[in-house]
Amino acid sequence: MVLNSDARKRIGISFEFFPPKSDEAEVQLWKAVSELQDWNPDFVSVTYGAGGTTKAPTLATVSRFIASTPLATASHLTCVGATKDETHSVVESFRAAGVKHFVALRGDTPDGVGAPYNPHPGGYANAAELVAGLREIGAFEISVSAYPEKHPESRDVAADIEMLKRKAENGANRALTQFFFDNDNFERYLEKVRAAGISIPVVPGIMPIMNLTQLKRFAGACGTVIPGFLDDRFAGYDDKPEERAKVAAEVAAEQIEDLAKRGISDFHLYTMNRSPLVSAVLTNLGFKRNEAKSTGAAA
Ligand code: FAD
Repeated sequence: MVLNSDARKRIGISFEFFPPKSDEAEVQLWKAVSELQDWNPDFVSVTYGAGGTTKAPTLATVSRFIASTPLATASHLTCVGATKDETHSVVESFRAAGVKHFVALRGDTPDGVGAPYNPHPGGYANAAELVAGLREIGAFEISVSAYPEKHPESRDVAADIEMLKRKAENGANRALTQFFFDNDNFERYLEKVRAAGISIPVVPGIMPIMNLTQLKRFAGACGTVIPGFLDDRFAGYDDKPEERAKVAAEVAAEQIEDLAKRGISDFHLYTMNRSPLVSAVLTNLGFKRNEAKSTGAAA
């Protein structure tokens, strides 16, 4: 599973974090950040508004990243439930804090997963409109979402690809995908994306699996399929956290290695605000801390 040094140099990585919700979680986040920054990510990103939170926790977290780490930091931004003016004022707060890169998203209705989404009458209706709005406000780097296994609300993959095309045409620089485990499906999806004339990088979202049972509960809502091979790989390790972590690091490293062999060069890792598993994945791939890597994704 070790990549050779040429392959490693071509690979760019980014890490996703979320704002902590307690003092204890805050300590854990910054411990993880101090350990993960040595892997030289091209950028890190901080989620926005998930779980009904407002901009404050994301702004505080992003500001601390910018002030106290050398990491290029992107802020996620959603337009759900807000007028365009309200969204612009949020953008200005982040710009004032030094943010130059947004992960621009529609977001989910606060009524919960599965509830119909109703755009705010004076707001952006979807992420494609938000990207166009951001482009008018400033020369930001803009990442957007992509769904190789279809967004749960979407009619079909073609509708998702149509939305991705609109996002790219409106100025998105790259797409970060929902996490997935089926690389063959991702390759088929990417072929369709390219056939639709979309040329921006589509960066796989990689979720190292800390706990398969918990992940299964959460994956359904995201539209991610959990293939049967994962049950086989994790069988018998429910009560053996050390062995389970070893398998988890192998599974994620194998997924990245396989995608790299298929020509993918950038990877977005969902860290869950913890470092050991992500570090084990990168170690399995042969990366060394502070090793120079690709010029891949910019911030
Ligand atoms: P869009 O790109 O606008 O739409 C996604 C797809 O859904 C479209 O392809 C379209 O086909 C379909 N669709 C959209 N609206 C409708 C509709 N009304 N009816 C039918 N189909 C529709 N959420 C957060 O709250 N905070 C975050 O920080 C966050 N970060 C994320 C990061 C990544 C990399 C990803 C993949 C997702 C993230 N999300 C986050 C989740 C995201 O907000 C939800 O998936 C949301 O439902 C869609 O937002 P979007 O920008 O992908 O939407």
